Amino acid sequence: MKTFYIETFGCQMNAHDSEKVIGTLVSEGYRQVEKPEDADLVLYNTCSIRDKAEQKVFHRLQQFKKEHGKGKVFGVLGCVAQQEGERIFERAPHVSLVAGSASYARLPQMLVQLEAGNRHVTGLSLDSEEAFDTPFTRRDNPHRAYITIIEGCDKSCAYCVVPFTRGPERSRTSASVLNEARELGAMGYTEIQLLGQNVNSYRDPSPAGWDFAGLLRAVGEVEGIRRVRFITSHPRDFVKEIVDAIEDNPVLCNHVHLPVQSGSDSILERMQRLYTRDDYLRRIEWMKSARRNISITTDIIVGFPGETDADFEQTLSLLDQVEYDSLFVFKYSRRPNTPALAFDDHIPEDEKGRRLTIVQEKQRAIQIRRNAELRASIAVPLLNRFSQQRSHPIAAADRYRRLVDNDAVIECEVLADAASRLG
Ligand code: SAM
Ligand code: SF4
Repeated sequence: MKTFYIETFGCQMNAHDSEKVIGTLVSEGYRQVEKPEDADLVLYNTCSIRDKAEQKVFHRLQQFKKEHGKGKVFGVLGCVAQQEGERIFERAPHVSLVAGSASYARLPQMLVQLEAGNRHVTGLSLDSEEAFDTPFTRRDNPHRAYITIIEGCDKSCAYCVVPFTRGPERSRTSASVLNEARELGAMGYTEIQLLGQNVNSYRDPSPAGWDFAGLLRAVGEVEGIRRVRFITSHPRDFVKEIVDAIEDNPVLCNHVHLPVQSGSDSILERMQRLYTRDDYLRRIEWMKSARRNISITTDIIVGFPGETDADFEQTLSLLDQVEYDSLFVFKYSRRPNTPALAFDDHIPEDEKGRRLTIVQEKQRAIQIRRNAELRASIAVPLLNRFSQQRSHPIAAADRYRRLVDNDAVIECEVLADAASRLG
């Protein structure tokens, strides 16, 4: 039997794409192995959101250069594949397959070409009308399942490579999403995470024509599903109806990840984010005044070209104003094809590093203060997995998506079906 190894880099979208790729390969008669040394086919599902992520892939390929000629076939999938295209064959001549996510539906045909000995197989077209929808998804998590509702992105944030690597937006029909959710509920999954680069711009392509809030409400009603999360939201398309839906149904997790990127209006404009600080704060206000306590998290980029000390101060003041439950902060990274490359006022790396540390320290202080307020409150975490010695449950996440402080957990709900699957 043919064997394959796959390693995944980057976001949940990539993790879920790999689940679909694995399902497709298994249905084509391949068996997954744990180590690349044991595989006939070695695949890297790649991320190119920042330069560091991209370099990792070429480093991995370099490690296996000597394997070329030993009968192994190497493939590069995902965003680096889409971005670099056939240049990968020059840079890493032992690679035989280069395919972006919009082409995965053609994976079975590409496998046939590889098996026939074709050394340069590509799937790089971005004009797929369809979202990648496969009946063969292979999920590893016993209780949480991802469902892609929208692929690609129609925004053009000046720093971001995603529109070039994942193509234009394609939404799945609400019927297809709901069928998958019902199947998952019937199989015993208890948590669903709806995925998209910008879930808020979801538009049902079928005559039903649902928007994201409508879809969210419907998924929250699926039998057996006890928690529904979604990621990622773009502030421009985040509407009050989403907060209303969360208020109305406790199955919808009271957590919203709403990436702001910067607290400065002039940087937001340069980033082409399509909202101002005030627009953003209005959305925060909807959540803060909701009846349910909604947890808010964000992404920040420091050192975007032209970011002055005064702009950076605006970001710090936004952190004080919103008091996020947690955040991801990144140093701006130059990405190919993006409009920000043309700016001539790039910030030195050491200054980006200094600002990154300041944001991390400020946020740490905010979190320590906010977590202390949670002591003695009741959290209901779902069990994610046991420790290796199986002596105690770990990695529990509560509905607020905040790491549960031991002192705060006085009730722990372990779902019977999830526990039995863990054995
Ligand atoms: N679609 C989502 C959005 O609009 O926020 C997230 C896309 S991206 C996978 C996740 C995060 O990576 C972004 O929110 C941004 O903070 C960060 N990011 C994207 N491009 C970047 C770049 N060139 N340099 C640094 N960080 C970047
Ligand atoms: Fe990138 Fe902006 Fe699209 Fe998010 S919304 S994926 S940051 S272009």
